[in-house]
Amino acid sequence: MKEIKVFCPATIANVSCGFDVLGLALESVGDEMLVRKKETPGIKITKIEGQDLPLETNKNVAGVAGLALLNASNYKGGFEIEIFKNIKPGSGIGSSAASSAGAVWAMNELIDKQFSKLELVQFAMQGEKLASNVAHADNVAPAIFGGFTLVRSYEPLDIVPVNTPNQLYATVIHPQIEIKTSDSRKILKTNISLEKGIKQWGNLGGLIAGLFTEDYELISRSLEDHIIEPVRSILIPGFDAVKASAISAGALGCGISGSGPSIFALSKGQETAQIVAQTMSKVYEEIGLDFDVHVSKICSKGVKLI
Ligand code: ADP
Repeated sequence: MKEIKVFCPATIANVSCGFDVLGLALESVGDEMLVRKKETPGIKITKIEGQDLPLETNKNVAGVAGLALLNASNYKGGFEIEIFKNIKPGSGIGSSAASSAGAVWAMNELIDKQFSKLELVQFAMQGEKLASNVAHADNVAPAIFGGFTLVRSYEPLDIVPVNTPNQLYATVIHPQIEIKTSDSRKILKTNISLEKGIKQWGNLGGLIAGLFTEDYELISRSLEDHIIEPVRSILIPGFDAVKASAISAGALGCGISGSGPSIFALSKGQETAQIVAQTMSKVYEEIGLDFDVHVSKICSKGVKLI
């Protein structure tokens, strides 16, 4: 195999109660990437379509993540990458993670799977570090493992794949304003009260249990965030109205996707997820803010061959 083309899924990080530890991959929203083996060592990004992003290897997350893999491997050659972006950077659905995860996953396929998924996450985290100054794994882990993933620990890195109930659908609405992950991190407090901590880990445990037992009511009760959402939602115009509309339309829960400004809702069944998309859209139509909206099943595979 000399070259492969892959689908790199968009991801929703945090999922309300799992700040920096929980994430999920979407099945029908994502980028595409072509990775080609070359005899010349190093990584060259030869084409980027869809978004204006740097071609320089050390300024593009795909290059930085790819170099981390290359340096750890015994492969003596290099790679050429073409990126076809659908996910806008700064939209909160893991644009940088899609490129980082896609690059290392594809390269690993081309060098006979030298690395485990966990190692691929570690390489992809270097791309995340370039994008947001923090080597977080909550987008790249679901992008590589698929489904829901929990980052149980960062040191050492321990990723727990979590069951995805079959009827679970995500609706994601992206109001057309840009929030940089690095900026939306700056406004967060670094301390939390014990009272808020108790609520948050109760909900996180409840959500994980609900996902494994496919208990949609428990999933719904657990989709709460008492720590991050009250601070970050201030940056997102119409957040409270969008959330209220999603819940009234039957969503199990609704919150900020990653660092925003995208807002996600989870629903049982595609039909409800579509209705939720319509009611969320109506709020932005009334405000007069441009938006994109997507309905997607949760992707069980992560990055995959196309
Ligand atoms: P997101 O959460 O959508 O990934 P971030 O703000 O975290 O958004 O990251 C986007 C940043 O990463 C931007 O500054 C962008 O220029 C940079 N970047 C570098 N390479 C890429 C790439 N291949 N895809 C997306 N963003 C990239």
